[in-house]
Amino acid sequence: MLGATGSIGQSTLEVLAHSPHRFHAWALTGHSQLDQLAQAARQSRPRVIVATDPQAARLRDWSDLPKETELRIGHEALIEVASHPEVDIVVAAIVGRAGLESTLAALESGKRVALANKETLVIAGPLVVELAAQHGGELIPVDSEHSAIFQAMQAGRSTEVTQVVLTASGGPFRNHTREQLESVTVEEALNHPTWEMGPKITVDSATMMNKALEIIEARWLFGLDPSQIRVMIHPSSVIHSLVEFCDGSVVAQLSPPDMRLPIQYALSYPERLPSPAQRFDWGATTQLELSPADPDRFPALALGAEVAGKGGTAGAVLNAANEAAVARFLSGDLPFHRIVPACQAVLQHHTFDPHPSLEHLMRLDQWARQEIQSWR
Ligand code: NDP
Ligand code: MG
Repeated sequence: MLGATGSIGQSTLEVLAHSPHRFHAWALTGHSQLDQLAQAARQSRPRVIVATDPQAARLRDWSDLPKETELRIGHEALIEVASHPEVDIVVAAIVGRAGLESTLAALESGKRVALANKETLVIAGPLVVELAAQHGGELIPVDSEHSAIFQAMQAGRSTEVTQVVLTASGGPFRNHTREQLESVTVEEALNHPTWEMGPKITVDSATMMNKALEIIEARWLFGLDPSQIRVMIHPSSVIHSLVEFCDGSVVAQLSPPDMRLPIQYALSYPERLPSPAQRFDWGATTQLELSPADPDRFPALALGAEVAGKGGTAGAVLNAANEAAVARFLSGDLPFHRIVPACQAVLQHHTFDPHPSLEHLMRLDQWARQEIQSWR
């Protein structure tokens, strides 16, 4: 479990605890929340834990670890655990670009990757998909929308799919005017109406950049043409996404918003197992409202569609610009409503290459993070 101390990581631990005879955590990794990492190790007794931030790791007294658990320090150890022969499935739940190399290493070793770290596909979609195909690695989505599409697609053949519809809650500012968006605070942006998630993806949901990243993620994960991907606003977050087939049938996956369900499905696929996830209350009314997303109110969506269409270096630049802009917003250094325009400008300023190498993508990642610093 890469990113065991995060929101997805903690939900994954609950899934494992629910089916101890099926799953065992071989390795857990954490970055800054090392007490939480040690506590998770005491609960699930992995063979290895990895603390990726060396400074934080060396400051801690690790005498509270179980005897059978070995401590490894630093980012290189992520690659070792992600490709270790005793590991069957890698849950990729590190946030952002920091999760790229370990996810690639898992695919290169032919593992199943339960992919939460959508940024990996945004940065290097074609390279990731090619690597998986070359080495027999398997990419199963954890992102709830993509898990829903993956599940719904089993109702037909991939050649019979005409469109997919990604649902979006619209985040906390769904009904805000442009003027209201100018005075949004960090605290307001971190208050998502339907999902509890890590801070970066919560801000992405508020700007709708999350949905932009998900358009790109869907494009590479399912080999879709970007024109086949739509976004609909669905405030209650119970329809996780929909697939339309050539005969006009639309198949959707529904469940109360609870990440433990898509996480478990990525682990157990093609089987379904009893899960700890919440159930619908069939005695209550469930809202299934779907309405088109307004492109003027949510400019991030057009950006996502543009980047999904372009491929090449566009995804890496958009992702890095967004990560850096969100970090600046969270530290009070960039206003909320400037995040998307700053990303748009950095994207326009870069020299596009349709077939970049991974090294080229990494150079552009650094460049885009620098560019964002000059924005006000
Ligand atoms: P969190 O911020 O809660 O967790 C992030 C994890 O990554 C933590 O374990 C953190 O360690 C670790 N981490 C952070 N920085 C580094 C670094 N530089 N090197 C190594 N590890 C690092 O995020 P979420 O769990 O919310 O999200 C994880 C991923 O899943 C993201 O890509 C997100 O987009 C995706 N996702 C999340 C969903 C959700 O419901 N949360 C839904 C769909 C997708 P530590 O905490 O110890 O610092
Ligand atoms: Mg999602």
